[in-house]
Amino acid sequence: MIQIKDKLPQVGTTIFTVMSQLAREHNAINLAQGFPNFDMPQRLKDLVNEFVQKGCNQYAPMTGLPALNNGLSAKIANLYDAKVDALTEITVTSGATQAIYTAITAFVSLGDEVILIEPAYDCYRPAIELTGGIPVIYELAAPDFKVNWEDFGKLISERTKLIIVNTPHNPTATTFGVSDWEALEKLTNDTNILILSDEVYEHIIFDGEPHQSILRFPNLWERTIATYSFGKTFSNTGWKIGYVVAPSYLMRIFRKVHQYNVFSVHAPSQFALAEFLEDKKEYLQLGNFYQEKRDLFQELTESSALKFFPSKGSYFQLADYSAISDEKDMDFSIRMTKEYGIGVIPVSAFYSSGRDEKLVRFCFAKTPDVLEAAGEILRKLS
Ligand code: PMP
Ligand code: GLN
Repeated sequence: MIQIKDKLPQVGTTIFTVMSQLAREHNAINLAQGFPNFDMPQRLKDLVNEFVQKGCNQYAPMTGLPALNNGLSAKIANLYDAKVDALTEITVTSGATQAIYTAITAFVSLGDEVILIEPAYDCYRPAIELTGGIPVIYELAAPDFKVNWEDFGKLISERTKLIIVNTPHNPTATTFGVSDWEALEKLTNDTNILILSDEVYEHIIFDGEPHQSILRFPNLWERTIATYSFGKTFSNTGWKIGYVVAPSYLMRIFRKVHQYNVFSVHAPSQFALAEFLEDKKEYLQLGNFYQEKRDLFQELTESSALKFFPSKGSYFQLADYSAISDEKDMDFSIRMTKEYGIGVIPVSAFYSSGRDEKLVRFCFAKTPDVLEAAGEILRKLS
């Protein structure tokens, strides 16, 4: 064997793959990895078939199909009162993961610091490390998982290049309010710091709260790269299509990388999405749709010995199991899967420090029969 340096020595297989695999092996209900167990809208399936048959099968433009970019620009204007140019400020990507990876690669150089709020979705940190950046971690704590912006500000240095935020938040299911953005605006004013705002759950937000997109804040816009995912919005995580929004001077730089690591995204799906997007109901009703699932899951687990945290957005819910066990969260998650037949994600997997607050994450993007079966098991835990 040749001598080779592993660029990500700390990294194994993602927790989502590991826990989904374990759930399969033990025939457990998989509430671990975040994906719906129901199918995507039939009309979108029909549309993609139609465009394949019509012969829309050659490369789409590198930046995204103009009809789709136009539709997205109109949606953003409508929802967030923001003027985003369809051709120069939106790029269609292979899911939000690629958008995030490409953004980090395009903007972060060797020795740059990137501030991450943990627990954090797992793809941010490896991308920073691969590009030679230095992750600087701000840890959120249970039970409210709120950012104390004064403490956060102490992490900003001359070398800070990028701050990554995520709302609605995976895994804590919390959301940013106006005051969070205002605090971030104050901290970054008169700096050259960029903000990557991961908003893949923009439409999965509850209790009548509007999604506070960074795009609503004109003073933050000049430093923004925002990422989105059709997979979450149209229940087709397997399509891996998303988009990124940024001011044109940043998008020019983003596209220099995007054109060489992806070039362009599956064309017939973009034709289908452009047409499907015209029906606003399809995304505007999503919050209510998932709120029903959240409420059902809450009701079904009310008498469980697990203590569930409120979910304000995303399709996740955290639960504290400390009344049942003092095992490490990874051990408890494995036991939940093997012995009780429910796959979950240990929250320590979202912290670089491995911080273990005896919490597990459930995904409630499931049909009522599955939530009921899980509820029955969870109510018996003691
Ligand atoms: N960010 C967050 C917070 C997520 O939960 C996900 C979903 N897996 C992604 C990004 C990636 O989205 P996609 O599947 O479109 O790559
Ligand atoms: N976003 C999903 C989750 O948080 C999983 C995505 C993945 O498996 N990479 O569970």
